[in-house]
Amino acid sequence: MIKENIEKITAEIEAAYARSPYQQGKITMLAVTKTVPAERIKELTELGFCLLGENRVQEMLEKYEALPEASWHIIGHLQTNKVKYIIEKAAMIESVDSIALAEEIEKQAAKHDIIMPVMVQVNIDDDENKFGIDAENCASFLKELSRLPHLRVQGLMTIGCIYDDPLKARSTFRKMKALFDEILTLHIENIEMKYLSMGMSHDYEIAIEEGANIVRIGSAIFGSRS
Ligand SMILES: *Cc1c(COP(=O)(O)O)cnc(C)c1O
Repeated sequence: MIKENIEKITAEIEAAYARSPYQQGKITMLAVTKTVPAERIKELTELGFCLLGENRVQEMLEKYEALPEASWHIIGHLQTNKVKYIIEKAAMIESVDSIALAEEIEKQAAKHDIIMPVMVQVNIDDDENKFGIDAENCASFLKELSRLPHLRVQGLMTIGCIYDDPLKARSTFRKMKALFDEILTLHIENIEMKYLSMGMSHDYEIAIEEGANIVRIGSAIFGSRS
């Protein structure tokens, strides 16, 4: 089941990339494992897919020991008091959404003498129910982060609204790509714009067509969570 799903998704990712005008290099599939027990995730990592995403610290920590082959991205709102638990365990924090959080990551990374790869979460739809920096404040936020030497900003992440209308999803992704390109032209010191993380199970193909190079896929791999 997981194997068949992965084969289908991999083929669809390739096809979407072939249709995309942005030939920005390989597309990374992050497997979102929330609510999925470690034994089932093992079926995936045994196929060679070891890049995993969790949005809850506790859940990631529970699975961390059971899956030593995995590499973890934090993709949900991270409370500052939890940074210390994941600082040496996460490969990337995709969901940096405040200066307070960035400063705590800086502090913990400095303490452990590491440089932490992070991405900035953008609330591209101005959705009051979502975390993230507003698009218009993104450049100034990145400039503030650029002075934190133990953070390495690698790109932007967004959680799009779920639209019935694929055209709406496309316009959101297009706005993100435009913001990403605009930030690139600013050449902010210490800020790399390598990754654009957008698109989930229901819309990853559109996201790739519009320039995503990380897609975060859960239910299309593991089945519905509800
Ligand atoms: C759950 C989740 C996903 C994956 O959602 P699916 O619809 O199951 O693919 C992606 N990104 C974030 C931030 C999530 O919380």
